[in-house]
Amino acid sequence: MDLDTITSLRPAHSREDLRLAPGEAVLAGGTWLFSEHQDHLTGLVDLTTLGWTPWTGTASGVEIAATCTIAQLLDLTDGRGARPDLFRRCAEAFLMSSKIWRTATVGGNVCLALPAGAMISLLTGLDAEALIWAPDGGERTEAVADLVTGVQATTLAPGEVVRSFAVTREALTARAAFRRASLTSLGRSAAVVIARRDGEGLVVSVTASTARPHVLRFPGLPTDAELSAALDPITWFDDPHGAPDWREAVTRHLAAEVCREVAG
Ligand SMILES: Cc1cc2nc3c(=O)[nH]c(=O)nc-3n(C[C@H](O)[C@H](O)[C@H](O)COP(=O)(O)OP(=O)(O)OC[C@H]3O[C@@H](n4cnc5c(N)ncnc54)[C@H](O)[C@@H]3O)c2cc1C
Repeated sequence: MDLDTITSLRPAHSREDLRLAPGEAVLAGGTWLFSEHQDHLTGLVDLTTLGWTPWTGTASGVEIAATCTIAQLLDLTDGRGARPDLFRRCAEAFLMSSKIWRTATVGGNVCLALPAGAMISLLTGLDAEALIWAPDGGERTEAVADLVTGVQATTLAPGEVVRSFAVTREALTARAAFRRASLTSLGRSAAVVIARRDGEGLVVSVTASTARPHVLRFPGLPTDAELSAALDPITWFDDPHGAPDWREAVTRHLAAEVCREVAG
C-alpha cells in the first residue's frame, strides 16, 4: 500500500548511512512495512542496498545476514550440513506466497517480533546469536531468544540495527525435530516446538503459543514430569489464532513428541 507520510527513501551503502534521523526506520523486504499504515514514519532507509552476502560460512558455523531472504536461507542447507527438513518446515510455517518468500528477510521477521515469526522459531531452536549495530558505532550480541521480549517488542534501542545471526556448526547439524499446530490447515502458527540434541542434553524451544520465545534445557532426555514442570511457568498467548488453554495443551503434546523423536 502507499505510505502517505513517507517523504524520503535513502539507500544505505555503508554503516554511516544507518544513522537514522527522527521519523526514519530501516526497510528490509518491506513485506510488513508496506502492508499497513506507518503514520509515525516519515522516511525509510533501505538495508538491502548494503549488499550483504546472504550467509557466510565461519570458523564456528554460519553467519546469516539480516537481509537474507527466506528463499536464500534455504540454500544454506546445501553443503553446510544444516538440517534441510527443519529449515524448510520453518520457512513453510510462514504460509506466504513465493513472492513474499523471495522478499521477506530473516532480520525483518525477527525484528517485527510477531509470536508466529517463523524465523524466530528457527533461530531460537538453533540457539542463534544476533549481532546488533548501535548508532554510536558500537555493537553487541544477544541470543535471539532474549532479543524478542513480547508481541512486536524487542530489546532493540532506537537506531539499533540487526546485522546478522550466528549459528554454531554443532547446532546446525544436530539432530532436531519440529512440530507446528494451527487452528486451520492454512492458518497462522499457533504453536511451534523444536527439540534439538545438544551433546548429551536436549534443547526445546517453544514459540507461537507464547508472546516471546521460551528455551528449555535438559541435561538428557527429560521425563514426562520434568518436561511438564519446565513448561509450567509459561504464560500462554491469546489471540484469534488460538485460546491459551488450547495452546498450552497442544504445546505440551508436541513437546513430548519432539523430545521422543530426537531421543530416538
Ligand atoms: C501475506 C503476508 C503473510 C505474512 N505471514 C507472516 C507469518 O506467517 N509470520 C510472520 O511472522 N510474519 C508474517 N508476515 C509479516 C512479515 O511480512 C514478515 O514477518 C517478514 O518476515 C518481515 O520481513 P521484511 O524483511 O519484509 O521486513 P520489513 O517489512 O522490511 O520490516 C519489518 C520491521 O522490522 C524492522 N527491521 C527490518 N530489518 C531490520 C534490521 N535488520 N534491524 C532492525 N530492524 C529491522 C523494520 O524497520 C520494520 O519495523 C506476513 C506478511 C504478509 C504481507
